[in-house]
Amino acid sequence: MIAYVGIGANLGDARANVDDAVARLGLLPDSRLLRTSPYYRSAPIDSSGDDYVNAVVSIDTRLTASDLLAALHTIEAEHGRERPYRNAPRTLDLDLLLYGEQVIATATLTVPHPRMLERAFVLRPLLDIAPAIAVPGHGRAAAFFSSVGQQVIERLD
Ligand code: ADP
Ligand code: MG
Repeated sequence: MIAYVGIGANLGDARANVDDAVARLGLLPDSRLLRTSPYYRSAPIDSSGDDYVNAVVSIDTRLTASDLLAALHTIEAEHGRERPYRNAPRTLDLDLLLYGEQVIATATLTVPHPRMLERAFVLRPLLDIAPAIAVPGHGRAAAFFSSVGQQVIERLD
């Protein structure tokens, strides 16, 4: 299954945390890291603290969606993430954006990620690595980019 994972960090050395997350995602069992997007800097939305660094990776995996989510939570926990309150600043946030063409709605996992089409910092890097990607129930992700075009994100080198 091809999965897409969104990475965000805004505490500490955010860029280093994203680098480390990418490295750890490359070590997931029964999985292979396919592509890593450029990194982007974005201002926090509904959140506080420093700017975020965001990226998206694609992974070819034999893990189930729930095992993949558990692995993402493990990586977040290894970064000492705490959840003192909703949308608190975090060292690392890993979101399962897409899992093949599956639609999943359980108590703990919603795929496609419900807010992915509203966020330039997800759409831009996703489209960088998968320009023709379709989102189940929504059609091509690229069609949504114009509606988030006013959100300011800055590509990092
Ligand atoms: P957010 O990413 O929306 O800012 P959190 O990272 O704190 O918020 O996620 C809260 C919960 O969202 C997680 O415990 C997880 O079970 C649930 N969740 C539901 N769908 C997803 C998904 N597609 N990717 C990641 N987490 C998800
Ligand atoms: Mg999350």
